[in-house]
Parts: sequence; structure tokens; C-alpha cells
Amino acid sequence: MNKIRNVIIIGSGPAGYTAGLYAARGMLNPLMFSGYASGGQLMLTNDVENFPGYPKGINGPEMMMELRQQAERFNCEIVDKNVDSVDFSSRPFKVIVAGEEFQSRSIILCTGAEAIWLDAENEEAQKGRGISTCATCDGAFFKDEEVLVIGGGDSAMEEATFLTRFASKVTILHRRDIFKASSIMYKRAASNPKIEIKPFSQIKKWISNEQGLIGAVLEDPRNNSIEEIKATGAFIAIGHKPMTEFLNNQIEIDHEGYILHKEHTMTSVSGVFAAGDVVDTRYRQAITAAGMGCQAAIDCERWLEDNAQ
Ligand code: NDP
Repeated sequence: MNKIRNVIIIGSGPAGYTAGLYAARGMLNPLMFSGYASGGQLMLTNDVENFPGYPKGINGPEMMMELRQQAERFNCEIVDKNVDSVDFSSRPFKVIVAGEEFQSRSIILCTGAEAIWLDAENEEAQKGRGISTCATCDGAFFKDEEVLVIGGGDSAMEEATFLTRFASKVTILHRRDIFKASSIMYKRAASNPKIEIKPFSQIKKWISNEQGLIGAVLEDPRNNSIEEIKATGAFIAIGHKPMTEFLNNQIEIDHEGYILHKEHTMTSVSGVFAAGDVVDTRYRQAITAAGMGCQAAIDCERWLEDNAQ
């Protein structure tokens, strides 16, 4: 495994698996480090209804398994480990995984983005004791209980709608009355009898006892008035941050940490490409990530042809 590879793909998810599929079919013998929690954000998504080719929708983890199998069918080598660090200062590039060094002529970064926490008072102590960022993972623990969902985007609408399968009541708390969510997802949530949408509500503090979460103190940002709400579960759905810390500033990123493309899908380091949510601040869809993974593999293949070492 320690020969110089043509391409190492870091991260899985729709971008990584599609890059792996294309690179493998391009006879580049790609090696992918998919991460311990391979599959990315879609492993935490329940129904994917907007990926073409699945007219009845598909469960996120099932779809990731199919993308993975498709890449493996063409001999994309997949290792379920995290990359600890990289060295892009000279070629071949170096990738360090659990103390072992791997070398590669090119790299495709597809590490995606992870959930952001609110960091309200008492939040740290209640993580996993009532407060979660993943309804698909933890929703079933709240059967017949009242839960909160924080956020006003598609994630919040999706989490809230999903949670009505278990919870007796779901309250969506949003800090203003304008919602980023698409109108179809907003309407679906708003018309669900188990969901209440409460705008102008910011979490000031989580309230808990020995058993776990019991509610939250809310603040209205218009006049700073305070009220309490009861809930035994809370799901934070306020967006994601890109997983770029392990790159240690060796490629150009924007102020939020998203990787910048310099030429098509190539980053500021020649031979290092990036695709998916780790780059995308605008679309962030499974289908756009998959498309970008395809672009990165094609760009990488062409770059390797011109830069044979
Ligand atoms: P968004 O950025 O769309 O929405 C984040 C929400 O969280 C906003 O309403 C924002 O408020 C709020 N927020 C952010 N920070 C805070 C804070 N500190 N305190 C309180 N509220 C905060 O993120 P999403 O994760 O919802 O969606 C990301 C992308 O993924 C979108 O493109 C979306 O369409 C897509 N997506 C698609 C799905 C699907 O089609 N099945 C499912 C889920 C996501 P404000 O509006 O005030 O900024």
C-alpha cells in the first residue's frame, strides 16, 4: 500500500465516492481515506427525495452504501480511517494516517462539513443528554416527548418533520421571522399538526436536572424579553462548518474555512483538488457534491497526464 499513488481521495460522501468512481474508471487506482464515520452528512439523513434516479426516494445511509459499492466495483481502494495531517510542501504529497505516511502525485479533498453547535449556556454539559445535532441518530429516544428544533433552514424543517414520527410535539425555534428554508420544506413542516413554529426565539440557556434536559430559557431579540419553554430533547440545526483544520493552512481557504478553487476544481496547490461541501457555500446538495466529485476526478486525471512525474 505504500507505493506512490496516483491519487489519494480524502473523505467520502457523494463527492468522495463519485471522485473515487471516476478516478477508478480512469485507471488511476485511487486510494480513499473515507474517515471513521464514512459516508458524510448523508449517513445522518433519513429520506433523500431529490437525488435523480430514486423516484421513490432513498434512505441516506443506503444511498451512501450504493455509491461506495459502485466505486469499489471499479477497484477504488477504501480505508475507513481519518487522515491526521498532510504535507503539500513538495511532491509527491504526503498524507499521514495513524502514524503511517502515504505518498501521492495528486490529492482530492472531499471532507465535507460538520454540524455547528449553538454554544448557549449549559449546552456543553447537555450534549448527548438531551441535546443533539442529528435527529436521525437520536430522534427515537424521544418517543411521546416534547422536543425543540433550532434553526430556520431546510435542515431544521427536515429534522422537525422527521421528529414528529416519535415526539408528541416539536417546536421550531428561529431567531427571526424570515426562513432560509425552501418553501416546500417550510410548508411541509408548517402544515404538520405536531409542529409549532416560534419565530424571534433565541436560546439563552438550557435548563436541566439530574435526568437531563428539561427546557430552555428563550430570549426575544426584538426586545430582550425572556420566557421559558419545556422540552426533554433539543436538536440544533443551524448549519455546518467545513472540515479543513487538518490541512493546517497549506491551501487557501475563505474566512469560514471553506476551500477556494483556483482553476476549475484545483485548489491553490497545483495537484490538489477539492469537491463537495468542503468547498460549496452555495448549493450544498448531494447531487451537486456528486457532480463536483466527478469534475475533480476529471480535472485530476488531466492534470496527471500533463504533470507525469
Ligand atoms: P442554512 O444555512 O440554510 O440555515 C441555517 C439556519 O440556522 C438559518 O435559519 C440561520 O438563521 C440559523 N442560525 C445560524 N446560526 C445561528 C445561531 N447562532 N443561532 C440561531 N440560529 C442560527 O443551513 P441548513 O443546514 O439548514 O442547510 C444547508 C444547505 O443544505 C441548504 O442549501 C439546504 O437547502 C440544504 N439542505 C437540503 C435538504 C434537503 O433538500 N433534503 C435538507 C437539509 C439541508 P438566519 O436565517 O437568521 O441566518
